[in-house]
Amino acid sequence: IERTFSILKPNAVAKNAIGSIYSRFEHAGFTIVAAKMLHLTREQAAGFYAEHDGKPFFNGLLDFMTSGPVVVQVLESENAVQRYRDLMGATNPANALAGTLRADYADSMTENAVHGSDSLASAVREIAYFFSDDEVC
Ligand code: ATP
Ligand code: MG
Repeated sequence: IERTFSILKPNAVAKNAIGSIYSRFEHAGFTIVAAKMLHLTREQAAGFYAEHDGKPFFNGLLDFMTSGPVVVQVLESENAVQRYRDLMGATNPANALAGTLRADYADSMTENAVHGSDSLASAVREIAYFFSDDEVC
């Protein structure tokens, strides 16, 4: 059993798609083990995406991620990191396979609706970035 970290990005929240996407998580066999809504500060978003600091899309990514509320959650299943990457689809929605979350909810490469950890190490770091120990029992 494994845990991964997920964000419903501001465009997904703005589309009233929280319930639909949570339903997709549950139908795909993920258990939602922790969750909350928050409006990221620029500092929080910059810290979260620090690996992309200096890239041409970084400032636009921060503008987008701070443009409205997000919902963050921890998802649990066997092989959760890879299974959730598969459910999300490609970063660029033009390449996202039919039936993936990004095929259905992304608007562009930046506004691609959902985030998911890219490795188990990232998942551990990202879960700790947003949740305290008592929130993820
Ligand atoms: P995420 O980390 O959000 O799950 P990812 O791992 O598929 O997505 P990363 O390469 O980690 O993609 O990029 C993080 C986010 O930065 C992407 O989800 C997207 O919103 C944005 N992004 C990445 N590359 C580009 C790009 N070339 N142009 C615009 N935005 C980009
Ligand atoms: Mg990533």
